[in-house]
Amino acid sequence: MKQIIIHVDMDAFFASVEIRDDPALKGKPLIIGSLPRERGVVATCSYEARRYGVRSGMNIKEAYRRCPQGVYMHPNIDKYRAVSRQLHEIWNVYATASEAVALDEAYLDVTEKAGDLAGARKIAHCIKKRTLEKLGLTCSVGVAYSKTAAKIASEEKKPDGYYEIPTAEDFVSLIADRDVRVLYTVGQMTAEKLRGAGIRTVRDIQNNTETVINLLGKQGGWIANIARGIDDRKVKPYKPENAKSISREVTFQQDVEDFGLLKDVLILLAFCVEKRARRYGLHGHGVTLKLTYADMKGITRSRAKDSAEDAATIYREAAALLDSVEQSPVRLVGVGVYNLSKEVNRQMDLFAFIDGEAGSPEEEFQTLLAALQEKYHLDFAAHLEEIYHAETLHKTVEYMRKHT
Ligand SMILES: [Mg+2]
Repeated sequence: MKQIIIHVDMDAFFASVEIRDDPALKGKPLIIGSLPRERGVVATCSYEARRYGVRSGMNIKEAYRRCPQGVYMHPNIDKYRAVSRQLHEIWNVYATASEAVALDEAYLDVTEKAGDLAGARKIAHCIKKRTLEKLGLTCSVGVAYSKTAAKIASEEKKPDGYYEIPTAEDFVSLIADRDVRVLYTVGQMTAEKLRGAGIRTVRDIQNNTETVINLLGKQGGWIANIARGIDDRKVKPYKPENAKSISREVTFQQDVEDFGLLKDVLILLAFCVEKRARRYGLHGHGVTLKLTYADMKGITRSRAKDSAEDAATIYREAAALLDSVEQSPVRLVGVGVYNLSKEVNRQMDLFAFIDGEAGSPEEEFQTLLAALQEKYHLDFAAHLEEIYHAETLHKTVEYMRKHT
């Protein structure tokens, strides 16, 4: 085998961690995500909940309709992050390159360490055993000649599964008669387009390559290859500087019409983005504003900026973008920086500073916080570090919404 790739995927990760830590939850339909009275979706649910038709990504109201007897919980993201670090530590030992694709999921290149399929099988079972022994959690593992095949293999026998797809021929015979959605690069929208042209199964893609390419362009060519089992992609270790952007967003429990409040929220989001970027030593060279309106229409606006690394600048740019968009009720607001690099491009700001056009960004940010403090009677400066955490950010923003 030219490449031997393992895909590891935890089973119902968030739910499994909660059940491990509170045995009283065992055997119950557990749904992690929003609470039924809130807005939002299911993040993960236990296999018991899946029996009622609850799925990840499902609207929480729909989940509740299907499973009113379920136990509903907010995610403890910080806890899952800590477990995630432990997981990747266990897995990485077996690979020459590993690519974390989610908190609970990774591709491992085991070509060298395994030598052959039998070696890979051994590694896969070690991974399952060690993960269970060390962390008390089960995972599913796929071994294959490509990333796509490894991912599909890990899904095949879930939960606590193992499956192998040694060759492209094995891959094709396994999935040929399945719905096109089995190819995880085919999303809902793409699948609709394909169905519109009478293409329902992977075999249909194989037999209608030209139609697929006409319909989907470059993406069509890629999908046609995948459908034949052709995928030479390498396992690419994650490097923060390869990330295209860093962003944070919040969804409000009720739509927000007050754009003054939105602007105030931008200050907190800008802080979170700055902190995240600094953690990786990255500098943004552009700012993005993202909005979802009450009717679910989403927009993003962005502008380039020589240096977008401090919260005050990120906020100022995002606020200017907010001034330029349609003012109707908003459901979600997000801020990001893009065009990331390890280099600083401070020159322009330095000139502005010397000319006395700008105070230091730090001062400017403190001024913004002081204004927030006055308006909402909350000591933002003292709680900034906590606000960085998703749960606290969300609570703070909801508090602000209720106090305007
Ligand atoms: Mg998973």
